[in-house]
Amino acid sequence: MTNWKQEQPAPLELKKLLQYTFPEIKEKIPDGHGGMKWNYDIYDNRKIAGSTKDSDHAEGRALDIYLDAYNISERMIGDYLFQVFIKDAEVMGIIYVIWNFDIWEKSTGKKRDYEKTNKHTNHIHVSWSQGGSQKTIFGGVPVRLMLRIGFPTRLPDPMVKDASKFA
Ligand SMILES: [Zn+2]
Repeated sequence: MTNWKQEQPAPLELKKLLQYTFPEIKEKIPDGHGGMKWNYDIYDNRKIAGSTKDSDHAEGRALDIYLDAYNISERMIGDYLFQVFIKDAEVMGIIYVIWNFDIWEKSTGKKRDYEKTNKHTNHIHVSWSQGGSQKTIFGGVPVRLMLRIGFPTRLPDPMVKDASKFA
């Protein structure tokens, strides 16, 4: 029987994979309590912000990857990972991903504006289904990340997207 009060295999596996393939997001950041923490969160027994519903983090089947959308190099990594997770959601068992004003959901297969207050400009949130969270094999994703296939060779324009949001 699965213990849902701990980190699940899929987010743990993805965290491990990212620590290896994107060591630049391995730095420590302030934890808000005077200490420092790693740039990833999985298990956290809490509700969705502004809601009475349990967050997927409360079952250990979500991963937060801390990246600053207003920092160009971190934004490039964030945009890249967002695309990889969407493209390979099925094989990875992912049900939705939130990053920089956008949410992509498996149920619709589409990306749309994220309407809640936390616009996720300081982290990518990845959620797995209960079944998906038990996966540890992610098809071609490890190789794609290792070789950074599809990673942009030029800088994005950080103003274009945000300007459109407020037009
Ligand atoms: Zn999260």
